[in-house]
Amino acid sequence: MKILVAGGAGFIGCHLVKRLIEDGNKVTVIDNFSSGRMENIKGQDINIINHNIIDKITLSGFDQIYHLASLASPVFYQKNPVETALSNSVGTYNLLNEAQKHKSRILFTSTSEIYGDPKEHPQKEEYWGNVNSIGIRSCYDESKRLGETLMMDFNREYGVETRIARIFNTYGPKMSPDDGRVVSNFINQALKNIPITIYGDGKQTRSFCYIADTVDGLIKLMNSDYTEPVNIGNPEEMTMLELAERVIKITHSQSKIIYSALPKDDPVRRCPYIMKAKKILKWEPEIGINEGLEKTTEHFRKL
Ligand code: UDP
Repeated sequence: MKILVAGGAGFIGCHLVKRLIEDGNKVTVIDNFSSGRMENIKGQDINIINHNIIDKITLSGFDQIYHLASLASPVFYQKNPVETALSNSVGTYNLLNEAQKHKSRILFTSTSEIYGDPKEHPQKEEYWGNVNSIGIRSCYDESKRLGETLMMDFNREYGVETRIARIFNTYGPKMSPDDGRVVSNFINQALKNIPITIYGDGKQTRSFCYIADTVDGLIKLMNSDYTEPVNIGNPEEMTMLELAERVIKITHSQSKIIYSALPKDDPVRRCPYIMKAKKILKWEPEIGINEGLEKTTEHFRKL
């Protein structure tokens, strides 16, 4: 198939591109390299379009379009909130127009962040969320919510074949070391034997999915006939303190743990309910946290 990956030079995007090529597809990447990196995709048989999807685009037809083009690390999206809000709203609209014109199937990567600071655990797709519309995370949360709305409306109004993945925290090789996210921060700190920085009391939870599992879930969702949102995540929930302790053990680090202020609106608990993915996509994560952290540590050790 001819497949377009918007945001294909980013962390999840570049792993997806590699898989799609291995599966025999002809892949085009569109990326403005704001957080994506050329080194993630170079040397492969792909077309690369250097473009910001916020700006209007005219594309040749693709069979499938994956939209992963957005800043995703809280540190970075909070530095560029307007850009982030527009990538997931105007950017989604631009790609949807192209999908409608060429009858492409399109998958939007939404996020667990649309559940906000959830009042229900684990988070089912039916839960509407608890989101601050004017906070420092809103540029990401609310624009992903609007992105979902646009996907559903293009489907209902124009019959575009749309798919929505709600991706939970994902980690693995090729994460940017200065991404500011918890897994990359902890592993880098541990490898350098410098203090591991826990924000807040470390009791907040996340559920981490290894990149190969996430990519597999995205491809299965794209090739299903299911239009409503599907959670793609690993339900192995842990506190940030537990994560820090695991990382210290795996890296045999001398690092101490230090505590600093919890960022504003930081969700207290997050864990996906993945029954839909299991039933509809016959998908569930296969790589546990210890194996995944080992593989990720190898990557950072080389860097
Ligand atoms: N966090 C932390 N130390 C760090 C980076 C992040 O304790 O060096 C915490 C952060 O406050 C949050 C969790 O780890 O509670 C996950 O943060 P991340 O930015 O990776 O992703 P999020 O799920 O918040 O989008």
